[in-house]
Amino acid sequence: TTRTLAPDTVVFDLIRREKERQMHGLELIASENFVSEQVMQAQGSILTNKYAEGLPGKRYYGGCEIVDQIEQLAIDRVKELFGVEWANVQPHSGAQANAAVMLGILKPGDKILGFDLSHGGHLTHGSPVNFSGKLYQPSFYGVEPETGLIDWEKVKETARREQPKLIICGASAYSRDWNYQALREAADEVGALLLADISHPSGLIAKGLLNSPFEHCHIVTTTTHKTLRGPRGGLIMLGHDFDNPLGLKTPKGEIRSMSSVLDGAVFPGTQGGPLEHVIGAKAVAFGEALSDAYGEYTQQVIRNAQALASAFTERGYKIISGGTDNHLMLIDLRSKGLTGKLAENTLIKADITINKNMVPFDDKSPFVTSGMRIGSAAVTTRGLREADMARIVDFIDQVLMNHDNDTRIGEVRQQVNAMMRDLPLFSV
Ligand code: PLP
Repeated sequence: TTRTLAPDTVVFDLIRREKERQMHGLELIASENFVSEQVMQAQGSILTNKYAEGLPGKRYYGGCEIVDQIEQLAIDRVKELFGVEWANVQPHSGAQANAAVMLGILKPGDKILGFDLSHGGHLTHGSPVNFSGKLYQPSFYGVEPETGLIDWEKVKETARREQPKLIICGASAYSRDWNYQALREAADEVGALLLADISHPSGLIAKGLLNSPFEHCHIVTTTTHKTLRGPRGGLIMLGHDFDNPLGLKTPKGEIRSMSSVLDGAVFPGTQGGPLEHVIGAKAVAFGEALSDAYGEYTQQVIRNAQALASAFTERGYKIISGGTDNHLMLIDLRSKGLTGKLAENTLIKADITINKNMVPFDDKSPFVTSGMRIGSAAVTTRGLREADMARIVDFIDQVLMNHDNDTRIGEVRQQVNAMMRDLPLFSV
């Protein structure tokens, strides 16, 4: 039986080693963060044992009275956090949230318009290798070559030309804020719905530090594990519920609201049983995000990103769009004669984790790339501040400028480890 099983030393030894890696390394991957101990406790709890297909109060399984309260708490807290009318907290991930939205509001073959993957967009916004580009007909808008910024009038022109049913905004590597109002004008002109995928900056948006999408975007999706600092997962929100434009009806002949279309698109549309242990952890994280301490954290995330951006600029690195409004930046390494692949593989030798990334109009393949993406969310959770950002840029510059000198890289690694060793891994 389970009780007599020997401890799995193999897996737990690997987890211990991964914890060591996280402790002594410098984590600059823009999509990562460190959750609190209580988020991990909820996620690692007995809630994983429970089946709960359906929604709180409307389940297809018995014994859901307690998980109903947990899921309802997650819903209530996220509604308060973002000031929205409706939320579904069940999507297993950001990709699942986007899949559910598209299943709910589109028919196969419908046209969609998203932000170009190679300019900073996400796979699920129409990439040909993803369901979104296989099931639907994608077209893309991008940034301007001279400025690295999106020209909102050009997005409107593209929408007029392409006549999409859905316009998607949001990105994985765009360091500037979004003009949701202009995008809504583009959507209204062609009768499209507007989806904002705020996976990256959602924590900063929750605390009012960036433009709010809720007034202008029909539907908003996000992951819960980036700046929001919750467990890995997804989430769908509606600022205001509305009648679905497809005119879908309930079995009783009533027009279905968008919230009911989306609930059905999550389950049974794209998922089976919700992960109630993850939803419990989401509830804990949303509770944390409601606190003033989290508000201070998000302000520090932006201050740290700006400190990183100015230190890189001082050292002659080219930041796409010239700076950042959020937690991340994309650096074009071509002026330094380096590739993203070389940067990623060399920095890891100094225990610095970044990711290679295409830059707009990149002439290299996605496996090589000309850029690196850097984010401040995780290092800010570790407690680092502006002065530390200048040191981090110094470490990165030393490694990249001496990429074939393992002795120098080893020296930087020792400094990195000394900086990180005593900083707590958890957010609270
Ligand atoms: N949307 C955006 C904008 C993202 O950046 C990401 C993740 O990087 C996702 C969706 C997908 O999230 P997940 O990895 O949880 O499926």
